[in-house]
Amino acid sequence: MHKLIIANWKMHYGPVKAGAWIRAFRRERLPKELEIAVAVPHVSLPAARASLGRAGVPLLAAQDVFWADEGAFTGEVSPAMLKEFGTSFCLVGHSERRAHLGETDEMVAKKAVALQKTGIRPVICIGETEAQRKKGEHLKVVRAELTAAIAGLKGDGQAPMVVAYEPVWAIGTGKSCSTEDAKQMHEAIRAVLVKKFGKLGEEIPVLYGGSVDTRNVADYLSTTNIDGVLVGGASLDPRQFGLLCRTAMPN
Ligand code: PEP
Repeated sequence: MHKLIIANWKMHYGPVKAGAWIRAFRRERLPKELEIAVAVPHVSLPAARASLGRAGVPLLAAQDVFWADEGAFTGEVSPAMLKEFGTSFCLVGHSERRAHLGETDEMVAKKAVALQKTGIRPVICIGETEAQRKKGEHLKVVRAELTAAIAGLKGDGQAPMVVAYEPVWAIGTGKSCSTEDAKQMHEAIRAVLVKKFGKLGEEIPVLYGGSVDTRNVADYLSTTNIDGVLVGGASLDPRQFGLLCRTAMPN
């Protein structure tokens, strides 16, 4: 399986800067063993798409979606609208949305189903808070979040989703999770996926996210059951992100 690296710009880069980022990144030498995607703000999807050229690298991702096809949902964006720009992935349930916008497990589950129906791969973000880890509840919390998020998903078709384990305390803090702790969590996540989807559950990429940078990316990617990484802050500079991709897969 190719390793998957998804950049998450969060609320950075409108259309002008997004186009410039993509053009700069396309000049980077990239390892062939990697699948690379970049999650851009909705308003920047058209510019990002236009700057991709024919090569289609990186793939496009969105950072959120609504679950209905169309209707009276002011301010929202449907999976079909994302599809018009050739969006391949869409983050759902990022902890920043759960914390600042009240996104619930139920909403995450509905978004994941709607994306899957449209042929966009949901990237289901799950992770415990620092308090939950200190209390020893992290495995229970993450298993419950994942089980709720995948409740409506079907296991047919080709690896229809991605899971991103992102401990909340590691996001944007510089406090990355140890590879031992990440390994333990990824094993627990894999077990939930296999229980639900059978053999297909073994093929669903499970990413790690939380303060990934050029110093730790290779360690994560060489850890069992870590199939890729979700990168926030360290993806904002296209050259640094190119370096991170090369560091991830040294050859
Ligand atoms: C993220 O936004 O999903 C993330 C992991 O951020 P950072 O890499 O900055 O911790």
